Amino acid sequence: MEHQDPQKIEQFKGQPRLPTFAVPKRYDLTIKTDLSACTFSGTVLIGLSVLQATRFLVLNALELVINEVSFTDSHNHRHIPCDVVVDSDDEILVLVFEQALGVGDGVLGIGFSGPLSEHMKGFYRGTYVEGGVKKNMAATQFEAVDARRCFPCWDEPALKATFKITLVDVPLELTALSNMPISLEKVDGQLKTVYFEDSPIMSTYLVAFVIGSFDHIEDTTTDGIKVRVFCPVGKSEQGKFALDVAVKALDLYRNYFSMPYPLPKLDMVAVPEFPGGAMENYGLITYRETELLHDDLHSAAANTQRLAIVVTHEVAHQWFGNLVTMEWWTHLWLNEGFATWVSYLATDKLFPEWKIWTQFLEMITGGLVMDSLEQSHPIEVEIPHARSIEELFDAIGYKKGSSVIRMLQDYIGDDVFQCSEPDFVTFLACLHQRSLASYINRFACKNAKTEDLWSVLSDESGVEVNSVMDLWTKQKGYPVISVEYKDHILEFEQSQFLSYGLNGEGQWIVPITVSLGSYDKRKNFLLETKHGRLDISEMSGSWDGSSNSNEKKNQEELDENLWVKINVGQTGFYRVKYDDKLTARLRKAIVDKRLSPSDKFGILDDAYALCEACEMSLSSLLSLMDAYRKELDYIVSSKIINICCNVAKVSIDAMPDSVDDLKQFFINLILLSSEKLGWEPTSGEGHLSSLLREEVLMALATFGHSRTREEAVKRFQTYLVDRNTSGLPVDIRKATYISVMSHTSVTNRNGFESLLMEYREADAVQEKTRILRSMASCPDPIIVLEVLNFMMSEEVRDQDVIYGLAGISLEGRETAWIWLKENWDAILKRWGAGMILHYFIRAIVTPPALNLAMKPSALVSTSGLAQTAQRRITAVDQGCCGTG
Ligand SMILES: [Zn+2]
Repeated sequence: MEHQDPQKIEQFKGQPRLPTFAVPKRYDLTIKTDLSACTFSGTVLIGLSVLQATRFLVLNALELVINEVSFTDSHNHRHIPCDVVVDSDDEILVLVFEQALGVGDGVLGIGFSGPLSEHMKGFYRGTYVEGGVKKNMAATQFEAVDARRCFPCWDEPALKATFKITLVDVPLELTALSNMPISLEKVDGQLKTVYFEDSPIMSTYLVAFVIGSFDHIEDTTTDGIKVRVFCPVGKSEQGKFALDVAVKALDLYRNYFSMPYPLPKLDMVAVPEFPGGAMENYGLITYRETELLHDDLHSAAANTQRLAIVVTHEVAHQWFGNLVTMEWWTHLWLNEGFATWVSYLATDKLFPEWKIWTQFLEMITGGLVMDSLEQSHPIEVEIPHARSIEELFDAIGYKKGSSVIRMLQDYIGDDVFQCSEPDFVTFLACLHQRSLASYINRFACKNAKTEDLWSVLSDESGVEVNSVMDLWTKQKGYPVISVEYKDHILEFEQSQFLSYGLNGEGQWIVPITVSLGSYDKRKNFLLETKHGRLDISEMSGSWDGSSNSNEKKNQEELDENLWVKINVGQTGFYRVKYDDKLTARLRKAIVDKRLSPSDKFGILDDAYALCEACEMSLSSLLSLMDAYRKELDYIVSSKIINICCNVAKVSIDAMPDSVDDLKQFFINLILLSSEKLGWEPTSGEGHLSSLLREEVLMALATFGHSRTREEAVKRFQTYLVDRNTSGLPVDIRKATYISVMSHTSVTNRNGFESLLMEYREADAVQEKTRILRSMASCPDPIIVLEVLNFMMSEEVRDQDVIYGLAGISLEGRETAWIWLKENWDAILKRWGAGMILHYFIRAIVTPPALNLAMKPSALVSTSGLAQTAQRRITAVDQGCCGTG
């Protein structure tokens, strides 16, 4: 009785990957859903190739009841397993057969059943309200490893197969969607069976189906691909903007990748309950409603922009991720880094006036902040266990991943194309298009590793990129480059930048770019060791004696105007620390308006990070910020506002006596922008003005600028009386709601009550979101507590709690912390240990918690929290979080 030998099954436990003696070729999946009982049952027939004779078949399954199993070989012999072992620790299903299955093809049939998940993963239940009645719908979210919660499968990205999906017992009035078009519908009374066409080969994490109540609109691409957007009933017009973006993006990518869209149709669905932002399922992209629905009255410029970036990101995945898929989750960044990068490229093509590439700088900053934590991880990371894959969906893969791609392309482009005036986007576009098209063609319908991409890029560019890039993708962290100027020589030194100082061990090959006094004078080189020198006497023509005057005074004047900017255009993923002399010259160049917005952004961002890491004094930072007083460019102003907010937050605990002076300084710094922009859009003003107006007014309201707050409250009161007033345009609403809440307290609740009423009446999801975001900004902790309890009520959807948590006031932090501890069990029960739970930690467990003697680690022992949350909590406990 060999099969009872536990050793034999033990061999499959604790393994990161499934054994490959049998691999799937085709899934024929039938699912019957009971929306009222919140359960499902199904059968799957899996066409297999047995590659080695085996007594075991090992696949993935989780929280499923396995009913019946049989294997039919190519001789039509039926084998019934003598043992069926479900191992929930390793999330595997082991089928043990008395006799070995021979090499060859066969079909594995499995009957199974399970509950619809309550926590938005696997095959899950969502709710929506129709005609005042709350109803159930069902949708899937399989990435990364939750297809196994819906049906037994080889749940690994490299084990691609075709899928034929059939949905049984779908209520007649509901819409059923899947990756492929419907091939047949059979009606039986009030129910229908929906058959979908066979898919091309794809990974399990991209399989999807949705059963719900929707209206839709549709359009076609120039090559005849039908694109549809499914919206809540009665709101199909709100899908128009996303539909336009998707159709244009499909046309653009088809040319860009030199490869047609691989499927016959693309559907995009606004799912009423959704854990993340969107999911790129092959041919059936699912979205959180706020990321797909758009209406001119309620969508702010920031909403519109976010929507375009999310749609172009998900559509890019249809090639980058779905057609060419990472070989294993270690290479997830190939999916996310590239989709992120390409989404900016597409958005820039569709909306050039948004100057989206300068906004990409915020992406780099996000990556730099996350990667300066000691708890960071490399872009490419070993996966010890399938479940730990979820930890990888963080800023490192998306933000650092896309940033190092941008750095690499700038580096290759410069050297290969010898471009004297490098227009980054243009030559990236040409290099990228060739390289990416070649990569997509070589690996279409297959899987790829990071090395595969490097070799295509090396082939196309003639530059060996492996040795440079391995240091950036296999090693966590990044360098800060310290620069000193002495006698026409720039001296460079690299050290690893950590949020608490410059003392890490790492070393990189760094593409350094230098501009000297003008963007025409540029020098590039690779810093391959810890130290480097650059003689700039020949770059600074006036220093080499060509000037006919030797007067020392003239020379000094020239020197003062001669600014040196390292990391030109901020294309590199590193920080720069200038010596005092170079800092003073840059400061002067900023005042004289001689630097590009990207460089002005970078100087400020680096200075702030160095200040946080105690490598620069706060007074030096403030003095530098003062040089930005006349700044009106969106991306630079937005950075100033962001730094003001962060400094204000930290200073409440660190130097409470100076808070009011600091706030006044910040108000003076941004007041000019607010005066230029006013409260209402002027006719024909650009997108970036709308973005800036929203941010400037919000900052002024937050810093307590009384004129701004009073004006906002006045406009809100007018709006309460007259809903058609033009005095409350969408881009000033956030600032208005924050002002209203700043005037609210237990003794004066009117503002809060009015906003609650607004929330209940609002129909547009983005308006609801905006109100939720502002409510907890109230300075009265008792109101904050009321708001938190409101978040737990039935009036706020499970997925929307993140917005309410986002804006908790500094005065409300301690109350929120006590509330979190008291409600922990209820929170865990309602949201499960998934993505949304991390928001609770992130929003409430912030560094100042330390000053209140909070010990967030107390939560961990009882919660079984995922590793990311633990990482966050450890960071807070050790006082080394990004904002502290
Ligand atoms: Zn993505």
